[in-house]
Amino acid sequence: MSSTRRRRPIVAIDGPAASGKSTTARAVADALGFQHIDSGALYRAVTLIALELPEPPERWRAEELVTRARALGVSLARSSAAGALEVMVQGRSVGERLRGDAVTREVSRVAALGPVRDFVNGLIRAAAPDGGVVLDGRDIGTAVFPDAEVKVFLVADPEERARRRLAERGSTPDAMGVRAEADALVRRDERDASRDVAPLVRAPDAVLLDTTALSFEQQVRAIVDLARQRAPSLDRTGGGG
Ligand code: C5P
Repeated sequence: MSSTRRRRPIVAIDGPAASGKSTTARAVADALGFQHIDSGALYRAVTLIALELPEPPERWRAEELVTRARALGVSLARSSAAGALEVMVQGRSVGERLRGDAVTREVSRVAALGPVRDFVNGLIRAAAPDGGVVLDGRDIGTAVFPDAEVKVFLVADPEERARRRLAERGSTPDAMGVRAEADALVRRDERDASRDVAPLVRAPDAVLLDTTALSFEQQVRAIVDLARQRAPSLDRTGGGG
């Protein structure tokens, strides 16, 4: 879809695992009065239902996964009229079940499958026909909305990302725990960056934002300011902050 036909801008936030994209994107969306779409959650939902298959992950077939995802109603919807867009399976929000270790281990394998990516991208584009949305993922600014008005590539030092990820889970990590988590994040980034379809890569026109030394509020403010610079209509069409 061409940006000239959209009523409101699109903000694309891409970057490696655990760089704080989803929480940042949600806060940016709130500040701008936009919807938020966490694209990784859709890949996680397809992985969650793949894990129920009797076959081991190396024998999962893309077409079968997509057929199953459609049959089980993997979708983006609001659970209340004024609510945020959430990932649904069989009409129910799946929430925290998407964050389990088994899903995290296998999600990059599922996300490397072209038909799965086409399925997820169809859901995302249908949920944002008029813009006015902040999306986070790996390929939003390169493949899903290459004409997004605002593109950010969020990075942070792997050990800092690991510390944040572990803190989110409520653990107080020691140095070894941080190292192990950082290694797992880097391995997932390598798989995402080396796949054939829509790999993790910074779009040439994305602004690089290193959040290693930034507070959460500073990250959010930096992106909201950028959005207002790149899409001046935001100052007129609303969005507090
Ligand atoms: O962002 P999150 O860590 O939840 O993403 C989980 C996985 O989904 C990523 O490691 C990646 O394999 C895949 N993904 C993707 N493209 C996106 C978003 C996520 O390939 N736009």
